[in-house]
Amino acid sequence: MKSGENYNSRRTFIKKIAALSIIAAVPSLLVSCKDKLIEIVLKLTGTNHILGHRLWLKNFPKPTKEIKIPYLIVGGGISGLSAARQFKRKGIEDFLVLELENKLGGNSANGENQHSKFPLAAHYLPLPNVRDKELLNFLEESKIIIDYKDNLPVFDETQLCFDPNERLFIRNSWQTDLIPRYGNSKEVDNQIDLFLLKMTEFRENKGKDGKYFFDIPMSFCSSDESLNSLDEITMKKWLLDNNFTAEEILEYVDYCCKDDFGLGIEFVSAWAGIHYFAARKHENNKYDDTILTWPEGNGRLVKHLNSFVENKVLTNHLVYDIQLNSYGVKVSTFNAKSNESITVLTEKVILATPQYITKYLVSERKNTANNFHYAPWFTASITLTDIPDNGSFPLSWDNVIYKAKGLGYVYNQHQNLQQIIDKKVITYYYSFSSNDIKKDRKELLKKPIEHWKALVLSDLKIAHPDIDQYISAIEIHRIGHGMISPVPNFLKSKSLKEASKNIENKIFFAHSDLAGISIFEEAFHQGINVVNKIVDGTTLDS
Ligand SMILES: Cc1cc2nc3c(=O)[nH]c(=O)nc-3n(C[C@H](O)[C@H](O)[C@H](O)COP(=O)(O)OP(=O)(O)OC[C@H]3O[C@@H](n4cnc5c(N)ncnc54)[C@H](O)[C@@H]3O)c2cc1C
Repeated sequence: MKSGENYNSRRTFIKKIAALSIIAAVPSLLVSCKDKLIEIVLKLTGTNHILGHRLWLKNFPKPTKEIKIPYLIVGGGISGLSAARQFKRKGIEDFLVLELENKLGGNSANGENQHSKFPLAAHYLPLPNVRDKELLNFLEESKIIIDYKDNLPVFDETQLCFDPNERLFIRNSWQTDLIPRYGNSKEVDNQIDLFLLKMTEFRENKGKDGKYFFDIPMSFCSSDESLNSLDEITMKKWLLDNNFTAEEILEYVDYCCKDDFGLGIEFVSAWAGIHYFAARKHENNKYDDTILTWPEGNGRLVKHLNSFVENKVLTNHLVYDIQLNSYGVKVSTFNAKSNESITVLTEKVILATPQYITKYLVSERKNTANNFHYAPWFTASITLTDIPDNGSFPLSWDNVIYKAKGLGYVYNQHQNLQQIIDKKVITYYYSFSSNDIKKDRKELLKKPIEHWKALVLSDLKIAHPDIDQYISAIEIHRIGHGMISPVPNFLKSKSLKEASKNIENKIFFAHSDLAGISIFEEAFHQGINVVNKIVDGTTLDS
């Protein structure tokens, strides 16, 4: 939950100064935009599904080169990069990372145009729970935590989301915060208050082992089974069973589930839905519910992790086969740039790849991904001269439109202290939440960019009726398998546990989908744990 109800005075002040200067520049822009027909430059990007789909055919040339390296990491997303960092922290230098895309970061990578950096997918990190010492350590290392006071971290204010943090367009007006409050009946408000109270109980409750039922990373959660039945029903059923029937609550929780899991309340388990609200402990009152964000989104965190893999990465390298052999493990990879294949002989390999890919690489894992569901997504990064609306609440970092098809947009220059910004860049988010995500995925890859442009505009026009007159460019980024969606009977399933088990102490697995929830923290801990397991034989974070 990215609530921004209480404003921090210093950050508000900095932002107000910047906002006043922008307002002064706006009228002339409005005039020049309205009077001419604007051509929108369209660009289509996405994860490299064409190269990825070659895994079905395996029509690669025979390897002509051989590399020997003690440790190999396949996949340069957060899990893989975090594993690389942990190797370095353990004093191990002889590892290599293979990444199929032309850059690192996976779902946390970013794009950039002449006006701003922007996230391609992951765009924020909530404040960490204070027991997550590994994450605190990383945030210190990357100069995001700058001090500690009363044993609580002090964050660099320029990396905390400036006010206003978020707003919701509902009943033709913008309100602060994403929880619908504007124009509600008393009965609806009561239900919302009760729901939030219930989530606070879940947040504070612990199992018989003394651990929180809901925590981050997932490995910190209590193993007490008394709440396991929540994983057998959908979040929608749980809401209705508990008399949370108001449309405003159903819409709000649906939005939250789509935000973290890609699928809405009809599809994700109640355990997962409650985890969204109850796992973050909000221990530090000083910061309310704010979050960490940057113009490039979590690309900033990738940049820091990149420093651990200098000269140890081969990009544009698709790994297509992995076999145990007398040396240890034989890995076959295809260099998409030079059109040649290479054999990598390694003692231990870490597959930091999602399981829908892993099943094509390791024959023992052919059926593992059968009950792993991945929601497709697309994002649209839009360049525009202005974002006109009815002025009922100022442009915020996160801007959500009630009952829209998509999940709203983030304003990427929100953290910018520059006084004049000639063009704004926003990133709009859309997850395909339906009971036929395979069909949705096909459509995402097949339909022309004009189709997605029209969808984005029709959504944004609910709150910004003439927005198309201000837009100069739209970049649609397609992500066929965006994130793992914890549908009922997945998080507590045996098959999820099995998928994490290594093969003969030589082939190891680390990806956020193995935690069942796709967030930075899970990917980060997956990387640390797998290296600890390889080096020390323990999965305990240390
Ligand atoms: C639209 C969207 C928005 C999101 N927003 C947030 C957010 O705001 N905050 C947040 O915390 N999380 C967010 N996430 C979740 C995000 O997925 C995680 O935070 C994290 O980036 C996952 O990292 P990972 O390493 O586990 O997986 P991935 O990002 O999937 O990394 C896997 C890597 O492996 C590579 N690879 C795959 N197959 C091969 C192969 N055969 N050979 C070589 N390389 C291969 C891929 O190219 C990729 O780089 C979002 C996700 C999406 C889709």
